[in-house]
Amino acid sequence: TKLRVGLLFGGCSGEHEVSISSARAIAKALTTDENANRYQVLPVYIQKDGVWKDREIAQQVLESGKPLLISDEARPGDRIPQTINLSEIDVWFPILHGPNGEDGTIQGLLTLIQVPFVGSGVLGSAMGMDKIAMKMAFSQAGLPQVKYQLVMRSQIYSNPCIFPKLCDQLEAELGYPCFVKPANLGSSVGISKVRNRQELETALDNAASYDRRIIVEAGVVARELECAVLGTDYPKASVVGEITFNSDFYDYETKYTEGKADLFIPAKVSDEITQKIQEMAIQAFLAIDASGLGRVDFFYVEETGEILINEINTLPGFTATSMYPQLWATTGVPFPELVHQLIQFALERDSEKK
Ligand code: ADP
Ligand code: MG
Ligand code: MG
Repeated sequence: TKLRVGLLFGGCSGEHEVSISSARAIAKALTTDENANRYQVLPVYIQKDGVWKDREIAQQVLESGKPLLISDEARPGDRIPQTINLSEIDVWFPILHGPNGEDGTIQGLLTLIQVPFVGSGVLGSAMGMDKIAMKMAFSQAGLPQVKYQLVMRSQIYSNPCIFPKLCDQLEAELGYPCFVKPANLGSSVGISKVRNRQELETALDNAASYDRRIIVEAGVVARELECAVLGTDYPKASVVGEITFNSDFYDYETKYTEGKADLFIPAKVSDEITQKIQEMAIQAFLAIDASGLGRVDFFYVEETGEILINEINTLPGFTATSMYPQLWATTGVPFPELVHQLIQFALERDSEKK
């Protein structure tokens, strides 16, 4: 009998559309001859308002590739998946990017209902989403990274005002240019590169509109290299890829406008650098307790030969042209085989719990 795979996509985040594209690619990969004998895909769509839809509606979104337009504001209770028959699903494949999906929330629900699922559990997902928690784990693992500082929203709007002092201190510690980021987001949303005091103040105010935790990092001039990790306790690393672009940094527009960024696989770097990055990628994956999949992103400062870890993404973009599946394809794991392995890792991890 075929395993029923709950393909969970959409979600309450700015990356809703990307999630739909990722889900389409995965659904297609699950219907290749080999996989069609093993798996039956049951799509489950989470609307932008957080309401879950399965069957015809989910299928329709998957086929059209277009989000469902929603009119009424959902109430909190509507976001509990009460009309979905959760018992019909043998293994979940959540492919939600960003908050409310990549951050441990969905993983908590799936853990609670005790059905195996692809990818990291609650801890790994939450650690991978919070840039501060992630950096603390990386630092503990001895992974080199840029200098950074945590800023709380309350420090920005405090009374009496400590804001000028805070900015003085950030300037002194990190210098310019620096990067201001909401701690729990992705796709470069809310991120600014700042070059002076005024930009710093504006950027902090902007980041604070997304999150109460903000990270400010020293800026580096570096090549951006990425490595894919696959597995559970003994994960493997892929070949290394590189992202290039013409914009100031890899911002939202550059990420999602066709033709603004190029992927090079494998990256033109020495074997030594490749090997070092692969080792660091696996260390990073284990440091946050990731599982299944993760894409680990690096800054390579060519002049000094330094490799700094930037971040891990526990549910990276998974479209046909995304870095993660392409890195594996070049490493020798084609897309359909990749999704098969991910499902097998989910089942393996689940059986080990018992
Ligand atoms: P996200 O999780 O949204 O992808 P990142 O931390 O990866 O956020 O930052 C997005 C992009 O911003 C990076 O790919 C890079 O181009 C640029 N960037 C971020 N931090 C730095 C930094 N400290 N120095 C130089 N560039 C940076
Ligand atoms: Mg990220
Ligand atoms: Mg990034």
